[in-house]
Amino acid sequence: MNRAESAKLYEEAQRHIVGGVNSPSRSFKAVGGGAPVFMKRAKGAYFWDVDGNRYLDYLAAFGPIITGHAHPRVTEAIVEAAQNGTLYGTPTENEIELARQLKEAVPSLDKVRFVNSGTEAVMTTIRVARAATGRTKIIKFAGCYHGHSDLVLVAAGSGPSTLGIPDSAGIPGSIAGEVITVPFNDLNGLKLALERWGPETAAVLVEPIVGNFGMVMPKPGFLEGVCRMAREAGALVIYDEVITAFRFHYGTTQTYSAAFPDLAAIEPDLTALGKIIGGGLPIGAYGGRREVMEQVAPLGPAYQAGTMAGNPASVAAGLACLGVLREPGVYPRMEALTTRLAAGLQTAAGRNGISLTVNRIAGALSTHFCDHPVTDYAEAQDTDGELFARFFREMLERGIYLAPSKYEAWFLTTEHTDADIDATLEAAEASFRAIAA
Ligand code: PLP
Repeated sequence: MNRAESAKLYEEAQRHIVGGVNSPSRSFKAVGGGAPVFMKRAKGAYFWDVDGNRYLDYLAAFGPIITGHAHPRVTEAIVEAAQNGTLYGTPTENEIELARQLKEAVPSLDKVRFVNSGTEAVMTTIRVARAATGRTKIIKFAGCYHGHSDLVLVAAGSGPSTLGIPDSAGIPGSIAGEVITVPFNDLNGLKLALERWGPETAAVLVEPIVGNFGMVMPKPGFLEGVCRMAREAGALVIYDEVITAFRFHYGTTQTYSAAFPDLAAIEPDLTALGKIIGGGLPIGAYGGRREVMEQVAPLGPAYQAGTMAGNPASVAAGLACLGVLREPGVYPRMEALTTRLAAGLQTAAGRNGISLTVNRIAGALSTHFCDHPVTDYAEAQDTDGELFARFFREMLERGIYLAPSKYEAWFLTTEHTDADIDATLEAAEASFRAIAA
């Protein structure tokens, strides 16, 4: 595949934009480096680069593009919003409608507030939890990603119940000292952390289904344990559903009755949302129990604001996207295609002597080059990143665009077809053969 124009643009981009990319996850650093692909346009399940090459898209822009690119209903809604003015700095009726639809889908949201990104949403849930409890510490889980605000870019210290250490330059040790990180799916680790820090803990923050070190389900009883133990310690429970909301079904993890028998036992106090709810435009939202949310200004003492928050274009795109997702059969279709894709990948890898663990949850999956299950971050780290990088490049050459990291998921959209799955499996067979050689 000729990508001369992408290479040229990358040279130019690096002169003006730090690292040539506006988010590190877009670079190819984790898959051996070199020029990332510069895309020019996209439609449905495909995008085209600046050299005219076509790719079948499993990135879905890291999650939001669930109705495919340039879905006519989403596009129409954005155009109409833009024609009426993109920003007023006043409330609008559509914001109420989007809030109402989110509340209807996720009953734990008595009140919501729109922001501009998942990062902002999570960051603010932490502030609100601190305001509501009068405590400062946060417990989170290793490998879960919650955006790039200071408190959540903190890695585990050594041992299950030690304070964190900054995971990025520029984060003071004093902030890292407010965060405890324990392994996902490890209730004993959480118990130890709460025994030591419980009375100071404002909230336990978790991706209830993980999307950031592959797709990883909580073990049976894990979320129930998180909620129960947090509350026994007087802490709030925050779910980061930025990836999971509307990804697996019309709702979130906390309403996913197909996977969780007792939804009441896994209801959080606060939820952070983003990605899909903006239909591909910038958005975030957070919400939760009335008395907790009423800590937020102008009602309460916890301040949070935003010039762009709830902007008409993002809200219109979100409403249109949710409208598409409410159509009957949408989720079962994505799930059926993904089931076939996951099984086909597993078989093709096996046929070529490659150890592969595929984690699939409804219309999303992750591939891990290893011969063991992946249920926590340590297991996701203990996989062959070099082999993944070679697989990624083989797939790219065959016109299949995967996220450029061994930790990222493959996302299907409503626009992927059976023929797309056939083409992907054919490319995967050839790619596994090439990397096995
Ligand atoms: N939370 C989760 C679970 C995410 O996956 C992400 C982004 O990938 C974020 C928060 C941050 O969202 P944003 O990139 O919109 O700031």
